[in-house]
Amino acid sequence: MLSTTKIFGCIADPISHVKAPTIFTSIFKDKNIDAVMIPIHVSQDNLINVIEALKGIKNFCGLTVTIPHKTSVTHLCDILEPDAEITGAVNWIKFDKERKLVGNNFDGKGFVNGFLKNNYFLKNKTICLFGAGGAATSIACSLVNENIKHLKIINRDIKKAQNLNKTINAKFSNVKVDVFSKNNYSLKDCDVIINATSLGLKAHDELPFDVKKTSRNSIIADIIMQPKETELLKEAKSLGRSIHYGKYMIESQIDLVGRFFKIW
Ligand code: NDP
Repeated sequence: MLSTTKIFGCIADPISHVKAPTIFTSIFKDKNIDAVMIPIHVSQDNLINVIEALKGIKNFCGLTVTIPHKTSVTHLCDILEPDAEITGAVNWIKFDKERKLVGNNFDGKGFVNGFLKNNYFLKNKTICLFGAGGAATSIACSLVNENIKHLKIINRDIKKAQNLNKTINAKFSNVKVDVFSKNNYSLKDCDVIINATSLGLKAHDELPFDVKKTSRNSIIADIIMQPKETELLKEAKSLGRSIHYGKYMIESQIDLVGRFFKIW
């Protein structure tokens, strides 16, 4: 590390599962960019103080934001890019020349780009999304731009799923979206089923849904990155379903991040 090294941060609570500091520091190295990303473990009640302090560090360029800060940090941003505005969540913050905070959200585009890059298709597909938190919201808003046939949203807290449906309907009228309670849904007609909940992060988490109830030709996607192969994906693989790993979502954000910070 040099005195000129640019610093990026990854802000989260808990922090142990985050992969971004390792991934991005190694990308900076590969691209000969004099920068590092450090993990920053901050609880909700300290978020404002920490962000204010980071503004004062001149070689601190920006942050990736994860659980539980994605929504609360939107209120601390001076400018929100369209994807952050629509989803009401921020997963990247840039400190501009005047040290203003510019919030963006690449989760949804990251998922979609990674999925398509893996030679899977979304056009005309029926997709079931488990979750209605920050990542699920962003993914849902990107999916509806991909000419899908039908989006089904299922979340433990059904009100959050209904709110997500309202957000989508207010911005995009071109796609059929339905919300189902966690006890009353069918997966048989779904081509793609995405776990965008935090289930799978912890070793003894229950599976978000029963893979046996999915069609044999369906693709099961997880957005959990750690472990790489979640219990859900192991079960899906053992039942002969096609699977899609969570790591592709972050890997596909790399180009978007480079353009946002104008660093590659
Ligand atoms: P949020 O806290 O915003 O949302 C969490 C979601 O998980 C909610 O839908 C919540 O449901 C659901 N959930 C949590 N616990 C349970 C449970 N016990 N049973 C059923 N549902 C549950 O988190 P994010 O949306 O930001 O992130 C979700 C996950 O995605 C995280 O694990 C994160 O690591 C991962 N992620 C991966 C990325 C990647 O690039 N691969 C990028 C971003 C996130 P409810 O509303 O009912 O509480």
